[in-house]
Amino acid sequence: MVKQQIPEKTDILIIGAGIIGSSIFYWLKQLGYDRKILIIDRNSYGNGNSSKAAGIMTIQLPHVTDSWLVKESQEFYSQFGSVSGGIEHPKFVKTGFLTTAGNEKKVEYLEKKFSSWKKVKPETTLLSPAEIKKLSPSIDEKQVELGVYTPTDAFGSGNDWSNWFIRRTRDQEQFFSKAYEEVVGFKETNEGILIYTSTGNKILSHKVIIATGAWSKKLVNKLDLSIPLKSYRAKALSIEAFEGSNKLVPHHDLDTGAYFKREVNGNVVVGDGTEHFETDPDNIQRQPPLEFLEHLSSILISLYPASQSSGIMNFWSGHCQATPDTYPLLGSHPEKKIILLATGFQGIGIMRGAAIGKIMAEYTITGKKSSKLTDNYWIDRFHNFPNDFPIQEGFQL
Ligand SMILES: Cc1cc2nc3c(=O)[nH]c(=O)nc-3n(C[C@H](O)[C@H](O)[C@H](O)COP(=O)(O)OP(=O)(O)OC[C@H]3O[C@@H](n4cnc5c(N)ncnc54)[C@H](O)[C@@H]3O)c2cc1C
Repeated sequence: MVKQQIPEKTDILIIGAGIIGSSIFYWLKQLGYDRKILIIDRNSYGNGNSSKAAGIMTIQLPHVTDSWLVKESQEFYSQFGSVSGGIEHPKFVKTGFLTTAGNEKKVEYLEKKFSSWKKVKPETTLLSPAEIKKLSPSIDEKQVELGVYTPTDAFGSGNDWSNWFIRRTRDQEQFFSKAYEEVVGFKETNEGILIYTSTGNKILSHKVIIATGAWSKKLVNKLDLSIPLKSYRAKALSIEAFEGSNKLVPHHDLDTGAYFKREVNGNVVVGDGTEHFETDPDNIQRQPPLEFLEHLSSILISLYPASQSSGIMNFWSGHCQATPDTYPLLGSHPEKKIILLATGFQGIGIMRGAAIGKIMAEYTITGKKSSKLTDNYWIDRFHNFPNDFPIQEGFQL
């Protein structure tokens, strides 16, 4: 690997090399930006919450604009991907995706959503319980009334893609990257923003893009600014394969809010443990509480009875970022235009990462907002930032 020196001056500094920051870095180069850019991360690339994700990439999302962003991202990821995994061939595994509902209100809601998803991917179909059973034989079809299936949805690895974006972009000329470099402070000068790092480096940048995920509020506060963002914990566990799980289609069950996904190694990941209160991403409890394991186990057994005797292989948690209306915070900070934000991706950052990176790179170069996004995606939709707001999960329909 090429060891890069950090430049003392740069035109753009991206802080945070998760899926979002690294994708912006990649797209700035692809779009022909020809001045100096540096991306830094306090950890190794892609090792923040992008490495905690289940990696589901589905168009079956609450906001239809997000469905289009996922479709575009999938088209991008699928060009290079392979099922083998690894940084040079990041995972993009086409598995299809299924959403189910049993409760009357959720069924009605799912039917409505189906018509908007079908516009994004016409191959999306409605399934009866018997058809769901045929597709994913380990499911107990008596627990569900309706399914929506998109055969071309997939999953991928946020960590692999972040590394891939950096590797494809960094060079000695003008695109620099540096891991294990933590931003600890800022100072405004006539020429731009001076950034202080934990290793004693000082970097002067004309523009700063904050792509630090769940840590974004903390960093913005160091600039004496605020943003309407809360970080919340999301949890997942993986269990041993069980009878029929080799055909398990990645699945989101609306009645319970849980999602299920088969790993390449055969284990099954189950998640839902979104916590509806703010927690400090630097003070994370990695081990989920016992009640969480019990809760998920009971959901699992009711939907997938054959999982009853499967042992737990792993469990973990990470942080997601909530905004007042579940839309991201993109664009220049209203009080300091040279600070750009790319944060607030709730629980669905990997699947939108490639498309969002391109949109943010275009915005950084031209100052223009993409016509692909509604006004809701940009931070200046807020005239005043709300003091407080409830945390809603972005993946929840
Ligand atoms: C359990 C779980 C399951 C999930 N499942 C999915 C899924 O299936 N599909 C999906 O699309 N999304 C999923 N997500 C959400 C997804 O992980 C996030 O939306 C995404 O990773 C956000 O990317 P990011 O680049 O904004 O943040 P991150 O990947 O967290 O990147 C931020 C980076 O900033 C760095 N940083 C922070 N502070 C500093 C500093 N002061 N100086 C320098 N660097 C700093 C961090 O080290 C980190 O690498 C899941 C999340 C969790 C927790």
